[in-house]
Amino acid sequence: MRDQLKRLEELQTHDAKIQELENSLKAIPLKLAATQNDLARVEGLLGTERQALSEAEKYYGEQKGLLTDDEVQVAGAKHKLAQAKNSKEYMAAQREIEQRREGLTSREGEITKLNGAVDAKKKLLSERASDVEALKASIAKDGEAAKVRMDEIEAQIATLRGERDKLASEVNPEVLKRYSVIRMRRGLAVVSVRNGTCQGCNMNIPPQLFNVLQRGQTIETCPSCRRIIYWEDLMKDEPAASPPG
Ligand SMILES: [Zn+2]
Repeated sequence: MRDQLKRLEELQTHDAKIQELENSLKAIPLKLAATQNDLARVEGLLGTERQALSEAEKYYGEQKGLLTDDEVQVAGAKHKLAQAKNSKEYMAAQREIEQRREGLTSREGEITKLNGAVDAKKKLLSERASDVEALKASIAKDGEAAKVRMDEIEAQIATLRGERDKLASEVNPEVLKRYSVIRMRRGLAVVSVRNGTCQGCNMNIPPQLFNVLQRGQTIETCPSCRRIIYWEDLMKDEPAASPPG
């Protein structure tokens, strides 16, 4: 019976390890999906920056066009001045030149500002673009590493499953069935009894059952939690040689 219990315990350790590995296996693609979402977000920002740049460039082009118009008008006003036939026309032409020049100067100022804004947007865009490239490279690297890790985990699971099946074949089928049912309901199916207390539910074991456990000839279950129980001392390995002295 001690061997049966030993195998059950090992079986339980294997099952727990397999479950843990399966959980980490499932977590890997979820983590990758999260970084993919990050990438999509940064790419979205990049698109917005590109849009803003193209709008700024368009406005800059429009202002440049208007500047040319302003220059043409100043030249026209100068021409009028040259052609003035009397002082009234002369004064009017001079006023017009002054006004046109003011307009021209303010347009030039506007264009300088726009030029600065366009440059700043270009710089931001290039930074953002390198962020995206870096993230893409890191995602590709993570993807490769994840693939390797998943292969490793799958190989570990396959090995553990092989061992588990071997252990299961060495356990009495009735006991194995009980184990599986309890494991499904409670997670832990096999627990020890320490100082007369079930380590699964912390309830005391009736003295009569405890006597049975100490004999270790049957597979017993805890009356409270229904887990398979064994007396802790029964499962202890052969005592080590007593220390010299
Ligand atoms: Zn119990």
